[in-house]
Amino acid sequence: MKVLVVNAGSSSIKYQVVDMTDESVMAVGLVDRVGIPGTTLDHSPAGKDKVTIKKDLPDHTAGMKLVLEVLINEEYGVIKSMDEIGAVGHRVVHGGEEFAASVVIDDAVKKVIKDCFDIAPLHNPPNMMGIEACQELMPNVKHVAVFDTAFHQTMEPANFMYALPYDVYEKYRVRRYGFHGTSHFYVAHRAADMLGKKYEDCKIITLHLGNGASMAAVKDGRVVDTTMGFTPLEGLVMGTRSGDIDPAIVFFLMDKLGMNSAEANNYFNKKSGMLGLSGVSNDLRDILEAAASGNERAKIALDVYYNKVKGYIGNYMAKLNGCDCLVFTAGVGENGIDIRENICKDLDFLGIKMDVEKNKVRGKEVDVSAPDSKIKIFIIPTNEELVIARDTYGLAK
Ligand code: ADP
Repeated sequence: MKVLVVNAGSSSIKYQVVDMTDESVMAVGLVDRVGIPGTTLDHSPAGKDKVTIKKDLPDHTAGMKLVLEVLINEEYGVIKSMDEIGAVGHRVVHGGEEFAASVVIDDAVKKVIKDCFDIAPLHNPPNMMGIEACQELMPNVKHVAVFDTAFHQTMEPANFMYALPYDVYEKYRVRRYGFHGTSHFYVAHRAADMLGKKYEDCKIITLHLGNGASMAAVKDGRVVDTTMGFTPLEGLVMGTRSGDIDPAIVFFLMDKLGMNSAEANNYFNKKSGMLGLSGVSNDLRDILEAAASGNERAKIALDVYYNKVKGYIGNYMAKLNGCDCLVFTAGVGENGIDIRENICKDLDFLGIKMDVEKNKVRGKEVDVSAPDSKIKIFIIPTNEELVIARDTYGLAK
């Protein structure tokens, strides 16, 4: 069976076609600027050159229609007809408390995804547009939802409850959910393989460090804790998100800067983090370069970034009562040699010792711990699309 994996954002659609006979990727692509003038589709069929198509598209249905046309194109397509696609897997950010695993999408599932619009206003509505567009164009196959929150649903109240009046949890579902679950799930399983242990017997700390960033503590196959919370704003310092701050700063700055709640939301999600602190960029490559040429704010920003991650490593080692391995993944985690080295520096008291020579590698699955490190340090490129394809295949076949 071939599975189409779809990740629909507010103005973009990412897709992959995966052949489940050998889990090979037949094509990857991105439709960008959906609904905005200047729409482009970049399509990369395996073993062939990338194709770029420019065509303004009004909405996600038009975007998906173009994707399907491209997939069956004689020249650069990868399948003969749409009948070859046996199922579609959709990335859905928020599944609330209802979903701890992937599910076949029916009306009841769609209602739950819609019920989460309130708590995931930036993500679930475009995810739903992607689902509805695909269902309209491919009504005869199963559609599966794979949730970013699902993996974290094993968290206990001790780590998912906020110390707020209890009724805001009951009335408004204010609790910690965690995100990037599909990525944490994938790398935690790979890490168990690399340890040569059963996944259910491992204590693993996963570090998904991308533009958005989160960590998770996994014990006996369950998520004990994760850094993102009610929304992806909590936790680590990110490209443009502040991560943990004193919540009083929010209402203090709303007063000082005359912001309403939407503006404050934008301020802490889009203007803060490494961008706000360094004044250079949200991209750690630019900040490393600026720091190397003497930019003080860039240096401070990096130190704040490292310290926040180190703090959570200690936190999670306490909560797990030990740890078998740290796993670095996502753009920064897979490629940021200096970043990984600085995070792991001076953690030998905790049994974490990096081999800095082995660490000089990008995007490879590798053990970079020193031989006498009690705790292994792995780099594992993430593969969320493969998890979505596998779950979809498992539920659809
Ligand atoms: P997201 O999916 O959250 O948009 P990614 O996981 O693709 O993000 O990560 C993108 C980020 O990875 C970039 O913003 C950049 O900061 C970081 N990155 C990529 N390559 C490097 C590198 N060589 N060194 C440090 N950071 C890097």
